Amino acid sequence: MIEFPRPVVRLIRTLNEAGYEAYAVGGCVRDALLGRQPNDWDLTTSALPEQIKACFANRRVIETGIKHGTVTVLDGGIPYEITTYRLDGAYSDHRRPDSVEFVSDLKEDLRRRDFTVNAMACHPETGVVDLFGGQDDLRAGVIRCVGEPEHRFTEDALRILRALRFASTYNFAIAPATGRAALKLAPTLQNVSPERIFVELKKLLCGKGARRVLAEYSDILFTIFPALAPMRGCAQNNPHHAYDVWTHTLIALENAPADPVYRLTMLFHDSGKPAAHTVGEDGYDHFKGHPAISRDIAEAALFAMKSDRATMNRVLALITEHDLRIPAEPKSVRRQMARIGSDLFEALFPVFRADLLAQNPAMIPEKLRAEEALERVFREEVARNVCVKISDLAVNGRDLMALGITGPDVGRTLKTLLDKVVSEELPNEREALLAACQTRRPDA
Ligand code: ATP
Ligand code: MG
Repeated sequence: MIEFPRPVVRLIRTLNEAGYEAYAVGGCVRDALLGRQPNDWDLTTSALPEQIKACFANRRVIETGIKHGTVTVLDGGIPYEITTYRLDGAYSDHRRPDSVEFVSDLKEDLRRRDFTVNAMACHPETGVVDLFGGQDDLRAGVIRCVGEPEHRFTEDALRILRALRFASTYNFAIAPATGRAALKLAPTLQNVSPERIFVELKKLLCGKGARRVLAEYSDILFTIFPALAPMRGCAQNNPHHAYDVWTHTLIALENAPADPVYRLTMLFHDSGKPAAHTVGEDGYDHFKGHPAISRDIAEAALFAMKSDRATMNRVLALITEHDLRIPAEPKSVRRQMARIGSDLFEALFPVFRADLLAQNPAMIPEKLRAEEALERVFREEVARNVCVKISDLAVNGRDLMALGITGPDVGRTLKTLLDKVVSEELPNEREALLAACQTRRPDA
């Protein structure tokens, strides 16, 4: 039996007392049965939207989804979606079907849901309603369509990606017929809006089973991002690597923090390698300049997904710098801090680690030590509060103008002073900096 939060019990009771059926449904039942904390509790009811509203006349109610049968009721500041039993029409927008038909039977509502583990309802007194074997599949760790998989994926191709997403998040298998239908119908994902795809994709990438699921269903990912396909089978014959670019990518992804920015960064970080590939005189494979190509591939892909700007900018910056190789010395560290900013520099360490952990296993211990040494130097420089940007300098533009420096020379001089402070040719002290400007214009 699952434990219901008090507000959910209250909402269900209110609907029951008015003569309607009401249950918790979908993801919250699945998560509660798995012993996980549900993200949110959704309710399903035989009451029509107007009847739901009438039941909660004394509460704050949000009508955003009312055409689709959803009324959101606030309890203690937390929104609960209450949806009338319904059948779905086609899904063409981001989240909701174009048309819905309200029905009076819970069974019909559960049948429209995508997977058996998502098609259970639960009542605080009468317990779980499981008409499609959802509990068995939860126990066995299987994602299986409710009904005939090809039919269900044809109704809504996003379910193909949702199957992969749940398999990744819960580290579940995909039932054989469901998996075959997903692969067969993958090209129809082209009809799904990028926003809906991107939501599921980010969750898929962040799941525990992301590497396994993406290895088994690479072709589905490649229908979304065709530019990634050349990584598969792209050999890396050099001492640093032990796998082809695609296998390396999936291992790196698995080793990155479970955060969409990092997982997207690793997914694309080497996507430019196939195009950058050359064979050197040493007989080894080289991929000079690949980060810039990877960055462009990622930019086009994330743009197509209508990614938000913040995610996109961060991912592109991390990809651009992922191959940064510098000695673990204060001066080089400071120079890079000045070039890319401390914040981006710090964010790169998990990328470096994920990347090296997916390289030739024989070289991992040595590369890890080098990475740790670099990180230590970085942290020391940060702790010392070193000057790495113009606003850190002990002088500013006004000081230089007081010395008679004008126009673009002000910015240029500040930049030169910063370079000299970073390289420790000058101390970051006001007198010394002003003196350097007066005796000899530092950029002269
Ligand atoms: P999460 O915990 O990530 O929110 P969830 O299962 O709640 O997972 P939602 O996208 O919030 O996923 O959907 C809620 C429920 O609605 C699902 O559990 C499922 O029953 C149903 N559902 C959602 N999307 C679809 C779809 N595309 N096709 C059929 N049923 C769906
Ligand atoms: Mg949900």
